[in-house]
Amino acid sequence: AALYKMDGWGAPYFSVNCSGNVTVRPHGSHTLVHQEIDLLKVVKKASDPKFSGGLGLQLPLIVRFPDVLKNRLECLQTAFDFAVQSQGYETHYQGVYPVKCNQDRYVVEDIVKFGSPFRFGLEAGSKPELLLAMSCLCKGSPEALLVCNGFKDSEYISLALLARKLALNTVIVLEQEEELDLVLGLANKMSVRPVIGVRAKLRTKHAGHFGSTSGEKGKFGLTTTQILRVVKKLEQSSMLDCLQLLHFHIGSQIPTTALLADGVGEAAQIYCELVRLGANMQVFDVGGGLGIDYDGSRSGDSDLSVAYGLEEYALAVVQAVKFVCDRKNVKHPVLCSESGRAVVSHHSILIFEAVSASLSSAGAVTPFGLQYLVDGLSEDAHSDYRNLTSAAIRGEYDTCFLYADQLKQRCVEKFKEGSIGMEQLAAVDALCEFVSNAIGAAESVRTYHVNLSVFTSIPDFWGIGQLFPIVPIHRLDQRPGVRGILSDLTCDSDGKIDKFIGGESSLPLHEIEGGGGGNGGRYYLGMFLGGAYEEALGGVHNLFGGPSVVRVSQCDGPHSFAVTSAVPGPSCSDVLRVMQHEPELMFETLKHRAEEICPQEVESDDDNISSGGGRGLGNAALASSLAQSFHNMPY
Ligand code: PLP
Repeated sequence: AALYKMDGWGAPYFSVNCSGNVTVRPHGSHTLVHQEIDLLKVVKKASDPKFSGGLGLQLPLIVRFPDVLKNRLECLQTAFDFAVQSQGYETHYQGVYPVKCNQDRYVVEDIVKFGSPFRFGLEAGSKPELLLAMSCLCKGSPEALLVCNGFKDSEYISLALLARKLALNTVIVLEQEEELDLVLGLANKMSVRPVIGVRAKLRTKHAGHFGSTSGEKGKFGLTTTQILRVVKKLEQSSMLDCLQLLHFHIGSQIPTTALLADGVGEAAQIYCELVRLGANMQVFDVGGGLGIDYDGSRSGDSDLSVAYGLEEYALAVVQAVKFVCDRKNVKHPVLCSESGRAVVSHHSILIFEAVSASLSSAGAVTPFGLQYLVDGLSEDAHSDYRNLTSAAIRGEYDTCFLYADQLKQRCVEKFKEGSIGMEQLAAVDALCEFVSNAIGAAESVRTYHVNLSVFTSIPDFWGIGQLFPIVPIHRLDQRPGVRGILSDLTCDSDGKIDKFIGGESSLPLHEIEGGGGGNGGRYYLGMFLGGAYEEALGGVHNLFGGPSVVRVSQCDGPHSFAVTSAVPGPSCSDVLRVMQHEPELMFETLKHRAEEICPQEVESDDDNISSGGGRGLGNAALASSLAQSFHNMPY
């Protein structure tokens, strides 16, 4: 665990048990060790049909832990409750979850359910998000906020007004000044009294990647002048009482509480000014930005790390708002945050498998012995070989590498000339690899082929260089013997992971072959903290579909768990349909071709399949095998 810095980024949810497997503590408690769930067992149950109750789902697999979501929500609420109490703040915190971070139905429904006791609401940024938020919040607390952000056309605004008619606590947050006219016109037409918020464009700027939309020149929000014009217009329409919420968003992954307090302080001044100008202000919405410490360093010096936890974040917000409001004699507003990343990141783990490595292990490299090599060597190569062995005996490893390389070059030349055979070339490769493995195991970096698409499953790695902790989920009781980078199965050269947390350019890994630790040589890896944004962004690159998904809950009895839902990843047909192909037609075309090519074999039998060569597959067998391919997952 220490090798992968798991204590830093994983506590209190992830740990390693005495069998060397990653365990999950869904309730985030260090003390309730009997509640730990062995992640390898979950993966086996989900994917291995031979495992008792095994579901046979294909990897990659997303394992969701709803209890982790619950714990994150409760910890966020507790942090604010504590800050409110300890600072003598006079109202409360009630957060909203920004649906865009992960729109999965069960994630949103769980958040509404778990957050209902403390009025937790939702934030939507588009019409479909608003529709899903409306329907989910029907089961939530009646006081839960439904914050409508994003660019809005008249349909969006009508829908938000409709939500208000349905007694959902809806606030339309103006992101552009022009939206006000639409709101006023439609509210009048629909006879709804709207609750309006404004998004302020702050001067405070977050310098990291995720802050590119903040600051005076940021893309979103209203300037001071625009806010003043909105106030005037509302006043003229006798609707200034409708303006009740101030929103701002400094950017995601705010690195320090100093920057947070700076932004919150500036926004609190605007809030107090709006009160002074006669608005009926109630809610102070600090937006997103509550960060995750992906590398566990708590340094706050990059997009990967934040220098605070939930408690420090909540305290900074409460103190900064209280300070300004007290000085201006303004009633403390209800505090709201739109925390997405911090709520959903931990609850889901992406599991994938290393299916091969580009360098095989020492000793198992070739069926051709060294004798082959020695017999066929030219005089030059022979002398390289002798020098290599004596350097090895003397322990001069750099010289060993040099002679091995020289020998290999010579033999490649000989092969090109046609003077040595493939077996000899393979034996030279094997020898060189043996030298490299034996002497420089720690230095040789292998390429592990993993069964996923980086573009689909970890889009932020490819798009913005975001790093996530990646760890083998078993065999952690054995020291990893090699280092590797991960290459996905797409035919795209960008489909590889060669940067890891801690500034590493490779990952400590175990040998795959034969050493699967009782798992039939299978080697499973997990990508952690990817529950926010990654699933929402992933496309269908190379027509790789999304992963299979299971939800896992802890149940009574030590270390026991239940898979409460299982959804297989999309089939080849499903992903083809996304690109407007018609799998049924495609199948018919191919079946027709099969009947044309081998019409005499309509009555096929199993012998055809096993006969190999000979008569080949009958067309019925071909059609059935094609049908299976359409039905299977794309890899
Ligand atoms: N609210 C708004 C307006 C956002 O743009 C975002 C994301 O950038 C969020 C909330 C969620 O932010 P985070 O995931 O940092 O909590």
